[in-house]
Amino acid sequence: MKYRSTRGGVSGLTFSQAVMMGLASDGGLLVPESIPDVSARLADWQGLSYPELASQVMSPFVGDIDQTVFKNLVLTSYKNFQHPDVAPLVNVGGVQILELFHGPTLAFKDIALQFLGELFSHILTEQDKVLNILGATSGDTGSAAIAGVRGKPGIRIFIMFPDGRTSPIQERQMTTVLDDNVFNLSIDGSFDDCQNLLKTVFNDLSFKETYALGAVNSVNWARVLAQVVYYFWTWFQLKQPAEFDVAVPTGNFGNIFAGFIAKRMGLPLRKLVLATNENDILARFFQSGVYERGEVRFSNSPAMDIQVASNFERYLFYQLGENAIDCAAFMNRFQTEQCAELAQPEGFFDWFTADAVTDAETLKSIQGIWREFNYLADPHTAVGFHLAQKHRDPNVPMVCLATAHPAKFDDTVETAIPGVTNHHPSLDALLGLQTRKTAIKDDPEVLKEFIRARC
Ligand SMILES: *Cc1c(COP(=O)(O)O)cnc(C)c1O
Repeated sequence: MKYRSTRGGVSGLTFSQAVMMGLASDGGLLVPESIPDVSARLADWQGLSYPELASQVMSPFVGDIDQTVFKNLVLTSYKNFQHPDVAPLVNVGGVQILELFHGPTLAFKDIALQFLGELFSHILTEQDKVLNILGATSGDTGSAAIAGVRGKPGIRIFIMFPDGRTSPIQERQMTTVLDDNVFNLSIDGSFDDCQNLLKTVFNDLSFKETYALGAVNSVNWARVLAQVVYYFWTWFQLKQPAEFDVAVPTGNFGNIFAGFIAKRMGLPLRKLVLATNENDILARFFQSGVYERGEVRFSNSPAMDIQVASNFERYLFYQLGENAIDCAAFMNRFQTEQCAELAQPEGFFDWFTADAVTDAETLKSIQGIWREFNYLADPHTAVGFHLAQKHRDPNVPMVCLATAHPAKFDDTVETAIPGVTNHHPSLDALLGLQTRKTAIKDDPEVLKEFIRARC
């Protein structure tokens, strides 16, 4: 399989090259040159374990890595999951909840980042290269990225977070990792300051090149690919129904875009219910065809507090008939005017039902799921569940993706259900452990010097 950019400036990349490039060098996103139809192979995949299925679903997109090597790499990626099914499906009042939070950091990002860590490691060893990952996080991504590459030879990871503004649990998940290749940087500033630092340092191209800087953000194709798998897995767990719907708590559009790819590959998925919090740019888009930026609002589902969804451009590319010129024009219009509109939103547009959920509804949803079904949901999952119930068709199975363990967001769960017991042993185990972080000024030169001294 070869890869090309949604803006037309890059083509003919191998899978490994696409993984190492991350964001396309023309500013677009990398997509495969075709999407294989696997519907004729589904019968053969029945009864496979999660890692075996993952290897089958992803293989057609790879090509330049030996099949046996790739399979082993995938099997290793899911060894650190605490549930034997990796992603178990649980019936909660007739909605099927797919628990994606049994990885090392208890958020669904582990599904992709454990795989990406193995993949980076393999590619770097093959090419005898090193990689220095620089990232900024407001919460879940940092810890999942660190867990994906800790202790891996040839890789260093530098994660910046705004000092005192991530939750104490999230900070501990990062700073208790003491491997030599992990550097936690608490920045004297906001999350936006961290992102600006990141951009400034990445824009220094000679520095980026000299120090082999790379990113792990959600635009990496390998992350999307790893997430396609669990849509197939769900269908097998449901005993292969004629069709099914999936509600997806959505921020950067990576998770739900993976569902779109699964459907394009021939999986009999009917509707994707796109669930946002009050940051509803995507909900508005799928209701009207108008993509218009708003102000970021801080909500009780913080991993979805996003206005500009980084994976949206991939969807747009397919919606525009894979026309890179139109895609680039739409994105440029959006960039300059903060608003762009689809002329005739037909075709893939109606694969989605999109809706937004308020903070108050999220709290009520957490309460309701607990009172009626005795199930503890984290706020992101509760956003999805609220819309899963609202948009459910009694004749079609409805699945809701659970994106984090409730103990990661104990404050909000406590507000919704005062006094409820909400723990996870691996989070409790972090209390009292030794931590390591370095406080750094909000200054790109200081950050560069820190990186220089360690590479
Ligand atoms: C990252 C994240 C999301 C949003 O996923 P996207 O792929 O960005 O749409 C939802 N819930 C949790 C808990 C997350 O960490």
